[in-house]
Amino acid sequence: MAGRLVIATGNAHKVGELRALLPGIPLVGLDAFAPMAAPDETAPDYAGNAIIKARAAYAHTGEPSLADDSGLEVDGLDGAPGVHSARYAPGDDAARRAALLANLAARGPGAARTARFVCVIAIAGLPALPEGVLVDGCLVVRGVCEGRIVSAERGAGGFGYDPLFEVPSLGRTFAELTSEEKHALSHRGRAATALLPALRALFQENHRRA
Ligand code: IMP
Repeated sequence: MAGRLVIATGNAHKVGELRALLPGIPLVGLDAFAPMAAPDETAPDYAGNAIIKARAAYAHTGEPSLADDSGLEVDGLDGAPGVHSARYAPGDDAARRAALLANLAARGPGAARTARFVCVIAIAGLPALPEGVLVDGCLVVRGVCEGRIVSAERGAGGFGYDPLFEVPSLGRTFAELTSEEKHALSHRGRAATALLPALRALFQENHRRA
């Protein structure tokens, strides 16, 4: 039985979402440890970068560590910003949203506004998992949420690109949803839901005793 799971991200929004999505799992933030330099995200895909981050946190903390690598893929931008979502343009989230809308507008009215959020979660340092289910020593799951990019921001909730991403079946952007509504269908919600049974088996008995 494992003790606790380190959430290996400095992104406070992701930490908040992951805490809500993994109820009953004993989680601890990286802030409980000595400061750790963020590793370079040099892989060409989400899985590779999630694995880099999870393994770096496990090496630093000596405890099982979960990392999330995620991004937004816009069809009319040939899949950009994708793995580069966090650094698509200099400045803050608002500047990156403005850059995305400007770049999509520059492609003309025919540019496809269909898009998807992708999240890959990797966990390094888990005990007692068969080799066959691990990728580079990590448990890896992926979640995807399909949607479309609206022409102007809507909503005040969430973070990052949420005000631009509309869920077609609801007619609302992620930023117009409650946290519970977003978690029920988001990329991160889907990845976390896929992980939860394995994490409960590994951590929960210990959690109940604590
Ligand atoms: P990274 O995984 O830390 O490299 O960065 C992921 C980036 O993708 C974030 O900084 C956001 O810009 C974007 N992103 C990922 N998940 C979400 C989400 O749930 N809502 C809005 N933006 C997101």
